[in-house]
Amino acid sequence: MNVEDLPGVGPAIAEKLREAGFNSLETIAVASPAELVATAEIGEVTAAKIINAARESADIGGFETGDKILERRQGVGKLTTGSKSFDALLGGGLETQAMTEFYGEFGSGKTQIAHQLAVNVQLPPEKGGLNGSAIMIDTENTFRPERIKDMAEGAELDYEDVLKNIHVARAYNSNHQILLVERARELAEDLKNTEKPMRLMIIDSATAHFRSEYVGRGTLADRQQKINKHLHDALRFADLNNAVVMITNQVMVRPDAFFGDPTRPIGGHIVGHTATFRLYLRKSKGEKRIAKLVDSPNLPEAEVVFSVLSEGIRD
Ligand code: ATP
Ligand code: MG
Repeated sequence: MNVEDLPGVGPAIAEKLREAGFNSLETIAVASPAELVATAEIGEVTAAKIINAARESADIGGFETGDKILERRQGVGKLTTGSKSFDALLGGGLETQAMTEFYGEFGSGKTQIAHQLAVNVQLPPEKGGLNGSAIMIDTENTFRPERIKDMAEGAELDYEDVLKNIHVARAYNSNHQILLVERARELAEDLKNTEKPMRLMIIDSATAHFRSEYVGRGTLADRQQKINKHLHDALRFADLNNAVVMITNQVMVRPDAFFGDPTRPIGGHIVGHTATFRLYLRKSKGEKRIAKLVDSPNLPEAEVVFSVLSEGIRD
């Protein structure tokens, strides 16, 4: 069944839906009526009807029994960071069908890890990869193909091939960033039956544009709502594509902290509740960095030391 076959969808509506990234039954099934109303210029009732039909055919949206969930979780893949101890901290690597947030101050290694994951995702599973392609949404203009080359060589891969499987988009502002996640859905759909399906989405940084555009108390609620929607779109991408979603986040200094670490991640609890795993990165001596697992549904809080080397992330 195709998008056109849904009741109430003619060729014109199908075209509009496709243009907005609703190009499969799955993406329509998890859309909200308001989203379809806005993109396809249809009424609320029609939108609801289309979504229901898509849900039925895509078998999405109802209750599931625990055994089914276990079955789907058995399809969860793990992506290596390049460091054995870092992987162990994460229970074997970054999980697919989940969002992992890396937060920490400048130079703590967030962007380096993002580059490394874009390389590692292309490795076969026996080497800790997912045999897939990567999407990188770059908001700070810090993607460096030269770093990919170093790291690809460090992983004994052909760097030219590796670069071809990394789809980079520069996000110029927060609205553009939100739009790029929708575009990512289309790209993933195009690559679905290829040798390198989309298995990784990186947003580096997820919060920087929001932080600089929404200044002052009055706009805070609006900002949090936008971030919330954006991150849920990204999480949806992880579920639909059995992909890893990696986001980075900077920290701000909390002047009112009398005890402990005076930094905290931007976006506060909104980001915290959406991310499945949260990692706090700190600088140590030289190339050494410390990663602390702050929040995870099934793993204990712990920290490890890893290194950022010229050939990539290592123990
Ligand atoms: P920001 O918040 O500013 O984005 P970040 O957490 O993304 O910071 P990274 O860019 O990941 O920080 O880390 C930069 C650090 O990575 C450098 O300070 C350096 O220590 C290390 N690094 C960068 N390139 C190399 C390289 N070619 N070889 C070894 N280490 C490198
Ligand atoms: Mg960075």
